[in-house]
Amino acid sequence: MMNDNGVLVQAHDLTMRFGGLVALDRLDMQVFKGEVLGLLGPNGSGKTTFFNVLTGLYRASSGHVTLDGQEVVGKSPQEVYRMGVARTFQRSRLSLSLTVFDNIVIGDYQNMHRGIVFNLLRRRAFRQEYERYVEKVRALLKIFSPALLDHLFEAVGTFTMIDRRRIEVCRALIGDPSLLLLDEPSAGMTHDETAELMSDILQVREKVTGLTVILIEHEMNVIERITDRCVVLNFGQKISEGTYAQITADPIVQTAYLGGEDDQ
Ligand code: ADP
Ligand code: MG
Repeated sequence: MMNDNGVLVQAHDLTMRFGGLVALDRLDMQVFKGEVLGLLGPNGSGKTTFFNVLTGLYRASSGHVTLDGQEVVGKSPQEVYRMGVARTFQRSRLSLSLTVFDNIVIGDYQNMHRGIVFNLLRRRAFRQEYERYVEKVRALLKIFSPALLDHLFEAVGTFTMIDRRRIEVCRALIGDPSLLLLDEPSAGMTHDETAELMSDILQVREKVTGLTVILIEHEMNVIERITDRCVVLNFGQKISEGTYAQITADPIVQTAYLGGEDDQ
């Protein structure tokens, strides 16, 4: 279905219940093509749940969420991945004993050629595919993390937090997604590391044409610098949206954040 109104993601009446708990409560929101959208809200407000529904990991209890006009609810994570959605997780999912290369390429395992038997029988084809991935990973790192280019075949466990995050973002980008979901990428990093990672992410957005990003992030200065627009959740409902200036001036947002949140 063609969709030329500039909307990439449209949630309508989207509800996710866990028993008696309503994690997403009749959520309506949209994300426009090419924008960086900040998704904000106190802990437990449903931000990660939205990612889980949008990636097919959870099936919404009711309502809809569409990607470029196509329904996502009911699709498997594999199907949603093939629709062009990639993510990073709040907690790191790297395999520390594997190399940088392996960790990045694993992100695209669903698109790899016909599995291991094929590869054993057709070593030549396997070799070609492997070379293609090496080229692709190099191209990604060149944009995003040139310092890692010389460490492609070293185990991830030896790298700093920020390099590991970069590797996770590259893993998400390896399948050429049109939508990138970042769940608190700065978690556990220092102020300086956070600033560095964010300028890398801006770089990615500049270099990867047409990429749309949804960023869950607590650091408000990061949100201010990097987002075009924000949506604020509280108890699974959208309580505010607009530019950084608009949402931070919104009394409803200030009330929701009163009482503070435990920054993790
Ligand atoms: P956020 O990412 O905004 O901090 P979450 O989306 O992780 O919040 O969680 C929203 C609410 O849903 C929380 O109350 C959380 O405990 C609950 N929740 C999230 N995932 C599950 C799950 N798999 N089972 C039960 N409750 C869940
Ligand atoms: Mg979360």
